[in-house]
Amino acid sequence: MKYNTKNYDYLIVGAGPYGSIFAYEAAKRGKRVLLIEKRDHIAGNMYTHKEDGINVHDYGAHIFHTDNKEVWDYVNQFTEFNGYINQVVANYKGQLYNLPFNMNTFYQMWGVKTPAEAAAKIEEQKKAVGISGAPQNLEEQAISLIGTDIYTKLIKGYTEKQWGRKATELPAFIIRRLPVRYTFDNNYFNHRYQGVPVDGYTSIFEKLLASDLIDVVTGVDFLADKETYLKEFPRIVYTGMIDGFFDYKYGELEYRSVRFENESFDSDNQQGNAVINYTDAETPFTRVMEWRHFDQKADAGRTILTKEYPQDWDRTKEAYYPVNDEKNSELFKKYRKEANGLKNVIFGGRLGNYQYYDMDQVFGAALKVVEKEFDK
Ligand code: UDP
Repeated sequence: MKYNTKNYDYLIVGAGPYGSIFAYEAAKRGKRVLLIEKRDHIAGNMYTHKEDGINVHDYGAHIFHTDNKEVWDYVNQFTEFNGYINQVVANYKGQLYNLPFNMNTFYQMWGVKTPAEAAAKIEEQKKAVGISGAPQNLEEQAISLIGTDIYTKLIKGYTEKQWGRKATELPAFIIRRLPVRYTFDNNYFNHRYQGVPVDGYTSIFEKLLASDLIDVVTGVDFLADKETYLKEFPRIVYTGMIDGFFDYKYGELEYRSVRFENESFDSDNQQGNAVINYTDAETPFTRVMEWRHFDQKADAGRTILTKEYPQDWDRTKEAYYPVNDEKNSELFKKYRKEANGLKNVIFGGRLGNYQYYDMDQVFGAALKVVEKEFDK
């Protein structure tokens, strides 16, 4: 190890939001922190870089949205948000529909013009399938919320390529992330606060980690030297994969991965929207982002588009999505039990907790653990 471990109160593993907020709050209280990060940059999957005056999100579209005022006020200490409201368009075999599922979608799908007409149509389709009682999987949940037409055209194909599994084998909660509303409102989220940082997300992390009491070392894999770290550091915050920490002793948790292909054009506007989803089963990518539309004030003349392709995960790839089905949830419980037994290690973040967290939830969880650690 290149560092004098005696110099630090905390070792933090991972420079994503959980680890970086913990580091900031520890330093604020005079604690000395060593933060190690496996990749060659900070900010985890929130990492953005600037290209042709445009903030490009390297790990897919990140829109900050929350109802949690404490979290919103907290993140606003480190950045200004631009007021961006996510409004996604779906392309199903050349037909365009507004998302999330709302009166515009219902009008485009069926020509219905009132909430009562839309509700009647959905009820009729739900009845025809004969779904009653609590939905057992994503397919049943989707049909009982918005009927078979929308399920078939806007959900089934997208979901099955996104997750690499049948919609009947996926948990119902995944589709409940999307609002269903009987108003003409295309806002993808229901939360009160929403936006994208004017200078990109990486600048938030530069500020979080700026203290002299925090040393950041990138390109270091904790798991390659785990036993030594555990011996040398009195307290560790670990935000990597929980199954990896325990050497996969009960087996691998499953994740879903994605890969990206970028293309830039001499144009101001290529697709007319920040995000377009391709919801059929055949198109190999799920969505295309045009980054300048997230920024609102991007320089003129160039535009950058990114296609997002879902892919199977293996240990050589980035883990993006935990697959919180029953099998994996049971496995996760075993790892969490082990983790609870390690009193000097705190597990956090999407990978440390194996949860499909949004950014604001990670911020909230980090602030909670900070309170417990320092202000109890
Ligand atoms: N989804 C869908 N069609 C869409 C967009 C989303 O069926 O056009 C489903 C899909 O199963 C996806 C889930 O809704 O995994 C949650 O979507 P969200 O946009 O929240 O996913 P994320 O942005 O986290 O990848």
